[in-house]
Amino acid sequence: MYQTTYHRASSVDEAAALFAKGSEAKFLAGGQTLLPVMKQRLASPSDVIDLGKIKELIGIEVSGDTLTVKAATPHYDVATSDAVKKAIPALAYLASLIGDPAVRYRGTIGGSIANNDPAADYPAALLALGATVKTNKRSIAAEDFFKGLFTTALEDGEIITSVSFPVPQKAGYAKMPHPASRFALTAVFVAQTKSGEIRVAATGASQSGVMRVPAIEAALKTSWSPSAIDGVTISASNLLSDIHGTSEYRANLIKVMAQRAVAAAG
Ligand SMILES: Cc1cc2nc3c(=O)[nH]c(=O)nc-3n(C[C@H](O)[C@H](O)[C@H](O)COP(=O)(O)OP(=O)(O)OC[C@H]3O[C@@H](n4cnc5c(N)ncnc54)[C@H](O)[C@@H]3O)c2cc1C
Repeated sequence: MYQTTYHRASSVDEAAALFAKGSEAKFLAGGQTLLPVMKQRLASPSDVIDLGKIKELIGIEVSGDTLTVKAATPHYDVATSDAVKKAIPALAYLASLIGDPAVRYRGTIGGSIANNDPAADYPAALLALGATVKTNKRSIAAEDFFKGLFTTALEDGEIITSVSFPVPQKAGYAKMPHPASRFALTAVFVAQTKSGEIRVAATGASQSGVMRVPAIEAALKTSWSPSAIDGVTISASNLLSDIHGTSEYRANLIKVMAQRAVAAAG
């Protein structure tokens, strides 16, 4: 047994202050990762600071060409939001594929990207759409936020407050889910930005977590169509290999998922 003190913060500033007071504090959002980790004794925080009821951390806004999802917004809200469906339908679709209904009701975008599981869905959308992660201290481009397996640019005690997505011209997502957990065995998000840049990101595939796929970006620049990817070869080196799929299988999945994502984007 170990002792943990639970705190329900009512503002971001209060949460940051509580964190600073704890000897080994942890923020709690949906608890879909942190609670299992605590049950397994892989984490034993002195203080658990609940962000889930902080009003300024919940909600979805569209302003001009930017869609903002606040950090403690559950996946279910993103999946069912009319604003998200209109601005970036692929993002709503992505959220609808996360886990099961219980996970979608509790899990949040902030918790998902702070955790940066190499098979999580949101990191692919952030990287492909060129999103910006806002924290209580600064703004971090998605490119600089994801630092490898379960590692991000967040400093100790830094709180994600929201994620801002530039609305693209087109975007699509396709995922081969693990049949039990629904995490991505491999999934690909493709986007064509309003300025015409093509960005492709794959999750579930790389040993270093979410990654851009330059070979597919180059092919799609020539022609935005699934068949443009036919001739692309994805190297299996540095891809994950486990009982669920070899690195060669994942290399092929990157290509197939990218083709499906482009078809979905239209
Ligand atoms: C059965 C199951 C299936 C799942 N399937 C999928 C899937 O298919 N795809 C997928 O992408 N994910 C999947 N998940 C993960 C799920 O999406 C959760 O989003 C994810 O576990 C973390 O979100 P959370 O809000 O529950 O965070 P928590 O578990 O509460 O926290 C996770 C970590 O993030 C930190 N944190 C939380 N919020 C913030 C914040 N605002 N600022 C800074 N740090 C913060 C916490 O301190 C903790 O370290 C699955 C989970 C389960 C249990």
